[in-house]
Amino acid sequence: MPAKVAVIGSGISGIAAAHKLVENNCVVTIFDQGKNPGGRLGLRSLRNIPYVNRPVDVGAAYFTISDPIFESKVNNWTELGLVHEWTDTFHVFDDYEITTTTGPMRYATKNGLRSLAIHELSELTKKGVTVLQERKIEKVSVSTNNVKVDNEKFDAVVLAMPGIQAARIIENDELAYELNKQNWAAALSAWFVIDADCPKFDAMFVNNHEVVSLIVNDGKRRGDNAPVINVLTTHEYAQPRLENFTSYVTEVVDHALEIWNIKSEVVEKGITRWSIAQPSPSSRPEMPQHMAIVGDAYSEKPRIESAWLDGVAVLNQLGSLN
Ligand SMILES: Cc1cc2nc3c(=O)[nH]c(=O)nc-3n(C[C@H](O)[C@H](O)[C@H](O)COP(=O)(O)OP(=O)(O)OC[C@H]3O[C@@H](n4cnc5c(N)ncnc54)[C@H](O)[C@@H]3O)c2cc1C
Repeated sequence: MPAKVAVIGSGISGIAAAHKLVENNCVVTIFDQGKNPGGRLGLRSLRNIPYVNRPVDVGAAYFTISDPIFESKVNNWTELGLVHEWTDTFHVFDDYEITTTTGPMRYATKNGLRSLAIHELSELTKKGVTVLQERKIEKVSVSTNNVKVDNEKFDAVVLAMPGIQAARIIENDELAYELNKQNWAAALSAWFVIDADCPKFDAMFVNNHEVVSLIVNDGKRRGDNAPVINVLTTHEYAQPRLENFTSYVTEVVDHALEIWNIKSEVVEKGITRWSIAQPSPSSRPEMPQHMAIVGDAYSEKPRIESAWLDGVAVLNQLGSLN
């Protein structure tokens, strides 16, 4: 009998784990509490003419490649027209001085990073995986040869989510305690549309600023040159403002306008919050048999690539299931 495995989380790490499990002939069900898949590959749609329903990335901003396994996945997305090279050069704002910095190629998508999750989940569905969105799991328990996910029996379970979210649902106090040691930064992510041409910068790292950490030109990132801009705040600014985050949209947008010296009218704006945005690198606690945890936290460089690679390596934790 093929092993029946639950993957909790349809973010990029859960998707990668599901692929690996299917390759190993497991019968996989993916559960996710969100209305949409992709987790922190967050997306919002604009509301006003002429950009009605145009997507804006409001979670992860882009990704980079350093590993051949991830590179081959990105090549596949590129061949399908889902991904394109964006830029290797960002501007840097530091105490009102603007310079540039060149780094690895940043990759972006035409339809938002979430479109990659949607594509991958549709591929998994074709391979027989059941994908259940809007299914919040409340309880996971594991004892010898008995894995239960909200009272449904499985042979194994993969927690594909931040450790501090996993700690809320596992019925294992010692493990929950270990996972709760993970350190996560928060962020607010605002977006706005201006009544002008697309600004000239691709993106700007903002250093030593108490509100803003990154400003991204979504028009250049997406390739349609719409005058749409995304602003990410610092953790220090976001953390005490998570509860009433919507009250801060004007303040955050105004800081971005000042930094980019934009005088044009803002014709649409919005803000979202990420109470669990970016982890400090953590060591993975010892997991019980038949239970794995995957995600971006178990790498020196937490990001989309490391979440993918951690998911791909899921059998290192579960062993061969069939
Ligand atoms: C604002 C921001 C900016 C970022 N910028 C970048 C960037 O520029 N480049 C980059 O590479 N990375 C960036 N990242 C990080 C990147 O988004 C993550 O590394 C990656 O998306 C993590 O994927 P994951 O699958 O590990 O976790 P997640 O995407 O968090 O997925 C976890 C999933 O688990 C689900 N879940 C949790 N609890 C339950 C439950 N009880 N029941 C059911 N489902 C549950 C959640 O709904 C979620 O979908 C950024 C992140 C944020 C928030």
